[in-house]
Amino acid sequence: MDLSYTQEELAFRDEVRTFLEEKLPKDMSDKIRRGEHIGKEGHELWHSILNEKGWLSYGWPKEFGGAEWNAVQRHIFEDECAAAYAPRIVPFGLSMLAPVLQKFGSKEQQDHYLPRILDGTDWWCQGYSEPGAGSDLASLKTRAVRDGDHYVVNGQKTWTTLGQYADWIFCLVRTDPDAKQQEGISFLLIDMNTPGIDVRPIILLDGTPEVNEVFFDNVRVPVENLVGEENKGWTYAKYLLTHERTGIAGVGFSRAGLDAVKRVARQESANGRPLIENPHFAARLAQVEIDLMAMSTTNLRIISQATAGQAPGVESSMLKVKGTIIRQEINDLARRAVGPYAMPFASEAVEGDNDPIGPDYAGPVAAQYFNNRKLSIFGGSNEIQRGIIAKVKMGG
Ligand SMILES: Cc1cc2nc3c(=O)[nH]c(=O)nc-3n(C[C@H](O)[C@H](O)[C@H](O)COP(=O)(O)OP(=O)(O)OC[C@H]3O[C@@H](n4cnc5c(N)ncnc54)[C@H](O)[C@@H]3O)c2cc1C
Repeated sequence: MDLSYTQEELAFRDEVRTFLEEKLPKDMSDKIRRGEHIGKEGHELWHSILNEKGWLSYGWPKEFGGAEWNAVQRHIFEDECAAAYAPRIVPFGLSMLAPVLQKFGSKEQQDHYLPRILDGTDWWCQGYSEPGAGSDLASLKTRAVRDGDHYVVNGQKTWTTLGQYADWIFCLVRTDPDAKQQEGISFLLIDMNTPGIDVRPIILLDGTPEVNEVFFDNVRVPVENLVGEENKGWTYAKYLLTHERTGIAGVGFSRAGLDAVKRVARQESANGRPLIENPHFAARLAQVEIDLMAMSTTNLRIISQATAGQAPGVESSMLKVKGTIIRQEINDLARRAVGPYAMPFASEAVEGDNDPIGPDYAGPVAAQYFNNRKLSIFGGSNEIQRGIIAKVKMGG
């Protein structure tokens, strides 16, 4: 198996690099590098810059106006974006809902929603998890009852990322409580401005309101907002999750994070010498770098298989587990590298509006450490992924 890039792939990488040098706003990449948030406007601006180039819909098929990049092109793009400290593309509309609409949505739904996702008219959020229905998602209880040409929705979603910005939420709802768990679920598109919806922030460990609870009290949703068939939502939900887990290894983010730790460890000192020369710190740094190199090779191997037409199976679980362990270890090393300056942690640091105590790179380090505890929980917790790996590799 040849894991090196072809001439065309190298040319594509140069094109991406040039684009990022020319179009990625400097103040935006500075914020990302410092671990600050860029807010709704920042994300919308970055989406519009990509959309102008035709690269926002890079994973979409050509028939829906997408660039239809292959797995290698996507990998190169994501790697280069991370290295340049570009913001993450907000995935909910673009790479979660859109593939579901493209495969299972009606023509009217595709014509209406897809262009609005691209031009930024609609910000989407994901209404899957509920209290008591996370890993065991199929036990969800939010109820939708048919009443004429509407569904009436009652219940609660939770952990809804950036739901405070959202115009729309795609929701899994129970339409048949008597059917077997997976068979009574439907996939509904709900306008967040409908009366009866209440969004309440959950403050995460880093002090920011990144996620929310969303309550539904007799919310009336037109039946044309049902995707596909009633009670077939589990099929669409699972299809969406295969898209949620792509790019999950986060190789580019880890590489950028590791470079940052090395920079800091050269500036900080321990016992009168640069921290990077401290044997204990250097050993941890070397170990995580070795793990990252190994994972990066595994990632390329899986991409190469995907390009040859094989769907990734249990490998995406392996990448999820390993990738998140590596990112969390890098966050921990960053926190240790700045020592006591990680202590005066203030959530304002990630919003960019307070003066850091200590060097400017120290401000958001603790916040990032705390925030990234989430990596091993969402997108299917690491324990669940280990269960999948064990089942496939060891049987049972
Ligand atoms: C920051 C963040 C953002 C999120 N954003 C969204 C979002 O936008 N939309 C959305 O719908 N959801 C979102 N989620 C929810 C996320 O998908 C769930 O948190 C996740 O699926 C785990 O479910 P849970 O929190 O209910 O934990 P539980 O399922 O209750 O699990 C609790 C613990 O038990 C372990 N466990 C559970 N079952 C098993 C098992 N069978 N074997 C071994 N261990 C097990 C888990 O690994 C975990 O450690 C988000 C979560 C976080 C933390």
